[in-house]
Amino acid sequence: MPMPSPPASTPVPAEPARLEDLALLGGPPLFDRMLYVGRPSMAPDAEVHARIQSALDRRWLTNDGPLVQELERRCGERLQVPHCIAVNNATLGLEVALRALGVQGEVLLPAFTFIGTAHAVQWLGLTPVFGDVCDADHGLDPAEVERRITPATGAILAVHLWGRACAVEALEAIARRHGIPLILDAAHAMGCGHAGRPLGSRGTVEVFSLHATKGLNALEGGLITTGDAALAERIRLMRNFGIPGEDQVRCVGTNAKMNEFSAAVGLANLDHFDDLCVHNQQLHAAYGAALAEAPGLRLMQPEPGQAFSHHYIVLELLPTATLHRDQLVSLLRAENVYARRYFRPGCHQAEPYRSRPGGPPVLPVTERLGQTLLQLPSGLQITPEEAHRLGRRLAWCLRHGDAVATRLPRMA
Ligand SMILES: *Cc1c(COP(=O)(O)O)cnc(C)c1O
Repeated sequence: MPMPSPPASTPVPAEPARLEDLALLGGPPLFDRMLYVGRPSMAPDAEVHARIQSALDRRWLTNDGPLVQELERRCGERLQVPHCIAVNNATLGLEVALRALGVQGEVLLPAFTFIGTAHAVQWLGLTPVFGDVCDADHGLDPAEVERRITPATGAILAVHLWGRACAVEALEAIARRHGIPLILDAAHAMGCGHAGRPLGSRGTVEVFSLHATKGLNALEGGLITTGDAALAERIRLMRNFGIPGEDQVRCVGTNAKMNEFSAAVGLANLDHFDDLCVHNQQLHAAYGAALAEAPGLRLMQPEPGQAFSHHYIVLELLPTATLHRDQLVSLLRAENVYARRYFRPGCHQAEPYRSRPGGPPVLPVTERLGQTLLQLPSGLQITPEEAHRLGRRLAWCLRHGDAVATRLPRMA
């Protein structure tokens, strides 16, 4: 007689019956595979391959190829901005934008951002001056800009962190009053809007990242967007060694060109980007439903009524939380979930900035977020149902935090 096939393994219950069911305390992990923050979501392989093959067939692999031009055109339309220039990454994009604007001296920027924002400034020999961020949107606080701006300030560089618009109206007004450019690091902002429009046409210039970990990915890549035609032309020149055409060099430049394979991947992913945003919105809703009753937790919400990619699922532990953020990170690692802490240290506490004369400024919101913020997995690797299960386990840990904490190593 044939053996009956084994029953399909039943999933681990989202809510443990007892403490020992937590993976960190010896139970089976909630997920049978690793879930990551920033795992790339990709278009179907065949669609990626077809576009890469078209570049191979043409033997036009870089230097403003047709796929790069198509990506610029489609992203420019999507972002509703007259000039959209593809570059090989957002860090060089920021450097080229700052240089094309002729920025000198100090640049005011938030400390709570990816270190690349600060390094782009420093790399050009400019001086980053760090300000604190707003509690509500994690963007540069205009009051901090007012406090720290001096005649030496050459530009303001603000960030739409997590794709939430920073206080652009206030920052634009300050920049205008002081006659300096406002550069916006829009690395996170593809698919996100403000005031009823896509981000990408605010300030003097905006810079998107198309890095593999970002919402729309081109392996490595970036986009510089602006409404200023003369600036756009300088950026295009600087992106390609200052070379406008054969046998001509007009200015100093660098190599910030995007290649055709990156554009191929970016275009294939762009075809599916709106679907990805819907998927991420469902994940956000599933996490939100599961975490609604969790004590001491705040789930970052989009600006009401504005487009949002939901690529970043951002949690903040509040002072009332029963567990420390780092305890949750350890608990989740055991469940096969690589939740991530951001940005720790803040840029002002990272080298070379912390060792500057006078020492780093005290920036309370940046420092608190560095201790309390947690990011959860998004994208095609995880289903809304799984996000709900993960949220329920997290909520259970927080509801039983006092008991859970007695079984964990002491937090400093
Ligand atoms: C990723 C990121 C960058 C750098 O983008 P690259 O394309 O990797 O150079 C800059 N700023 C922020 C806020 C980022 O998250």
